[in-house]
Amino acid sequence: MYSAFPYKYETHCHTSEVSACASNTAEEIVKSYAKAGYSGVIITDHFFNGNCNIDAALPWKDKVDLFCIGYENAKKVGDRLNIDIFFGWEYNYKGTEFLTYGLDKKFLLDNPDLLEWPLELYFDKVHEANGFLTHAHPFRERSYIKKIRLFGKKIDAIEVFNSGNDKQIFNERALAYAQEFGLPQTAGSDTHNVENLAGQGTYFPERLKSINEFIKYVKNGKSYISIPED
Ligand SMILES: [Zn+2]
Ligand SMILES: [Zn+2]
Repeated sequence: MYSAFPYKYETHCHTSEVSACASNTAEEIVKSYAKAGYSGVIITDHFFNGNCNIDAALPWKDKVDLFCIGYENAKKVGDRLNIDIFFGWEYNYKGTEFLTYGLDKKFLLDNPDLLEWPLELYFDKVHEANGFLTHAHPFRERSYIKKIRLFGKKIDAIEVFNSGNDKQIFNERALAYAQEFGLPQTAGSDTHNVENLAGQGTYFPERLKSINEFIKYVKNGKSYISIPED
């Protein structure tokens, strides 16, 4: 880590309260991250169109309430342990996924037709509301991802390192892509289990007061990505 960027934040993390594939509760997660010396964690559970464990048949408000529980539980523990907890989610379009930052529960409650929006409209609505989109693991190859879709500058940042990628080349391609398009970069662990905390993250020169500060730093290239060496 560069000494100018001492504050490490997790940008991609799932709780078992909300994500069907995650094995640790928000409380277990936050305790592990605090112990590992992180300054903060952005909770990015799988949204309703991803691997989310919330009953799709419930009314929208009930679904949103349940969706926010992972973050809310994390926040309570974070406040106690002095580790910042911010809210986000991982939106899924046919296996192509977008970490969505900077929006809140109210945005979700106000948009009960969100799942019917075409993808481009989702991008536009997120941006209108001052949200920020990071293309998660854009070059990951796995059975649930039928094709690689790229969106150039429609997206605000590229996840250039994801610890959940099976092969390093998927990360290398993401970094080359971000550099080619001059897109901001994030790195994250894609945590589903804290027993083997991957320890990835994005570093900042200051403690972040809000998710908006996170966005501002990433957008302006004022954050630092550490790429683990082999
Ligand atoms: Zn998952
Ligand atoms: Zn994820």
